[in-house]
Amino acid sequence: MQSISSALNDSLIGKEVELRGWVYRIRSTAKLCFVVLRDSSNIIQCVGKIDELGEEKFKILSSLTIESSLSLKGIIRKDERAVTGYELNISDYYIFCRNVNFPVSKDISEDFELDNRHLWIRSREFTAVLKIRSTIFKAFSDFFYENGYYQVQPPMMVSTATEGGSTLFKVPFFGEEAYLTQSSQFYLETFIFSLEKVFTISPSFRAEKSRTWRHLTEYWHAEGEVAWIGNEEMMDIEEKMIQYIIKAVLDQNMDDLKILNRDLEPLKDSLKPFKRMTYDELISQSESLGMPLKYGDDLGADEERKIMSNFTRPLFITHFPSELKTFYHRPDPENPNLILCHDLLAPEGYGEIIGGGERIWNLEELQQRIRDNGLKEEDYYWYLDLRRYGSIPHSGFGLGLDRLAMWIMHLDNIKKAIPYPRTIRRLKP
Ligand code: ATP
Ligand code: MG
Repeated sequence: MQSISSALNDSLIGKEVELRGWVYRIRSTAKLCFVVLRDSSNIIQCVGKIDELGEEKFKILSSLTIESSLSLKGIIRKDERAVTGYELNISDYYIFCRNVNFPVSKDISEDFELDNRHLWIRSREFTAVLKIRSTIFKAFSDFFYENGYYQVQPPMMVSTATEGGSTLFKVPFFGEEAYLTQSSQFYLETFIFSLEKVFTISPSFRAEKSRTWRHLTEYWHAEGEVAWIGNEEMMDIEEKMIQYIIKAVLDQNMDDLKILNRDLEPLKDSLKPFKRMTYDELISQSESLGMPLKYGDDLGADEERKIMSNFTRPLFITHFPSELKTFYHRPDPENPNLILCHDLLAPEGYGEIIGGGERIWNLEELQQRIRDNGLKEEDYYWYLDLRRYGSIPHSGFGLGLDRLAMWIMHLDNIKKAIPYPRTIRRLKP
């Protein structure tokens, strides 16, 4: 038994192989039956002949429907007309499961597709999505392991908000109330005092009530926290990390990118240095970028979409006014109204994929910011302790892996980038 991709090989021509998988396409004439078989690796055309199989076996084979599962034995031949250049001449087969009717096909509505995601993930398109996601997740970890970071595991059930109360998911917790974590940042910050350079890939949960093309209520959050560095150095690391991931996808997923009809030029262009622009500069250029903004405006999905349709490479926006960002960001000592932070916006109209920056590491400053934001110091006692005992300068970031995947694959909605999207309207399958 071998994989289809390994059977597409000149050295096997004339040899007998056994393949197993699912019916991807099937059609037959009175004497010939063409089964395109798929497995996780590829597809191959297989042909069954009435003369060789006998009438009974031929009839059963020809009556199979899409996605039935079977194993096939036969001789490999080269055939330029066949979909992947080779053909298997079926000598025998065994059927595992014969489908009555497979409900999912290409021309289905978006809702029907989402209701049947457990079946749709078998499609060639979604298989490509899953393979590219797999590369992205691995490359993210590889990058940090190669650079001396440790992977850590923060808790998912927490008692504090990191990104504001409005998107908190509440969970009953033995008579108390817990929340599903919105970000692992605060816990990552605790780890730098033992490990200095840490990262995690964990789910984050946000009760996003507005439905946009880029918000999920459960998403995969890749976060890093680094001792002794500031905002600029943090951006240097992120730029290398994103380029490392893109390179890995270009190296390993060419076939998948092709199935998704992905234009490769913007990905290749993104291997060149990323531009950096302050929030101020962005505001003053906003009109010429087709999205007139005034100072103090926040950037949402629509604004970023317009701005980023002008770019084919990611762009860092830095030094936001402090009222636009959460309390833990460190103000710029030279201009305390601005904070030492950044967002990384993906090109081709995608917008924010990373939020990051330097964290406040002075105790009084952080206490003041917590009070100014109407939060209770006692809720953050352990976070404040980090500023009480051996505090150090440090920076970190959070990358939405589903958003990165959506951009890399050029998908028009984040729900197409994750196998089982969770949104305000969707908890199934
Ligand atoms: P946005 O402004 O788009 O709502 P945010 O600024 O609230 O995002 P951060 O708190 O900075 O997001 O989170 C870090 C990263 O996590 C974001 O840059 C984004 O890539 C990702 N992210 C945030 N919220 C979501 C979500 N609801 N679904 C998917 N990814 C998200
Ligand atoms: Mg952000």
